[in-house]
Amino acid sequence: MAARGAQVRSIGRRALTCASFLLCASLASCEGRPPASKTQPAHSTPSDAPAGPGAREDRALRQARERMVRDQIAARGVSDGRVLAAMRQVPRHEFVLPAYRDRAYDDSPLPIEAEQTISQPYIVALMTELAEVRPGDRVLEVGTGSGYQAAVLAQLGGEVRSIEIIEELARTAWQRLSRLGYRVRVRHGDGYAGWPEHAPFDAIIVTAAPPSIPPPLEAQLAVGGKLVVPVGEGYQELVVVERTADGYERRSVAPVRFVPMTGRAQDR
Ligand code: SAM
Repeated sequence: MAARGAQVRSIGRRALTCASFLLCASLASCEGRPPASKTQPAHSTPSDAPAGPGAREDRALRQARERMVRDQIAARGVSDGRVLAAMRQVPRHEFVLPAYRDRAYDDSPLPIEAEQTISQPYIVALMTELAEVRPGDRVLEVGTGSGYQAAVLAQLGGEVRSIEIIEELARTAWQRLSRLGYRVRVRHGDGYAGWPEHAPFDAIIVTAAPPSIPPPLEAQLAVGGKLVVPVGEGYQELVVVERTADGYERRSVAPVRFVPMTGRAQDR
């Protein structure tokens, strides 16, 4: 079915400096031992949920996540059991603004800092399924936003890197991911150019829409790798590109609506 309403807000064109940097509080905190393994983040799980006043809220949030997966995601055709399990695990309420915590499991995108959005749960699950991430895969996300999509990819066991063009978002997402135990490298910069030092990638997910597919992202795919990207101005389509031994195979999956990719993607 069509992934309608994936994103509702648009942002203006944003001037940027390309002085990208790795967000590391210190080298040790960026490259050192994570609080938990990347497939077992440090946040509460059903088996380690605390007793006491917080326990009821934990239970209610877990139930809300269960309903989200059943009614919004599986019911629309996402069937990869690993993706469904990851969507059940990642605490989406930790990635939304406090004022929207009660709506974290709604069937919609929500506002985050810097007038951006966290994507609708269904579209996150759909893009994740299309990317076919396996444990140990090298994964790139363009458009970190809240860090939620990156957390889902890390939950699947991917070695995840994510690029965000708005410095404030890159910093807060990295802090949030670290606090929750997700080992994701976050970089502030223009994701149009990808992250060539760490290419090739087995999967690349882009969560802002360029007018056309950025050639550097296709070039940074491994053979057999998948690029999942919303493409277009006004009317957008979710496109999957697979790199083959001979070139690239591209297919359109669904109409979508994402915020535009800013930076170099808008150069004419
Ligand atoms: N994946 C995010 C999440 O899980 O919360 C949602 C991302 S939001 C829909 C799109 C993000 O892409 C915004 O944070 C925006 O600043 C970022 N963005 C737009 N153009 C970009 C670019 N050229 N490079 C990197 N990030 C970009």
